[in-house]
Amino acid sequence: MKKVYENLEFAMVGHMKSLLESQGIRCEIRNEGGVSVAGEVPFTQVYPELWVLSNADLEKAKAFVEDYREKLRNQPVAADWTCPACGELVEGQFSECWNCGKPAPEPA
Ligand SMILES: [Zn+2]
Repeated sequence: MKKVYENLEFAMVGHMKSLLESQGIRCEIRNEGGVSVAGEVPFTQVYPELWVLSNADLEKAKAFVEDYREKLRNQPVAADWTCPACGELVEGQFSECWNCGKPAPEPA
């Protein structure tokens, strides 16, 4: 088990998890809400983290995360959008709703 990614935003970590899983890399999120480590780690250090289950997938996962970060850096910041299906406010970098999986509506 190796940590490959962490982000203050839980939605971002969840998004990365589904991206890695779509690459056939099994992973899990730890520190959701800090529950599993409460009392041991100061709250400010508890971020959701993404862990790869198999060390054999680690390099591939790391490369994927790096690629993804690179892509985000080169991307113009997209505006947040509201999901037409469930009404959830979704951050601009997501191409589908983190809540229900609906793709972002085409820009008008
Ligand atoms: Zn939705």
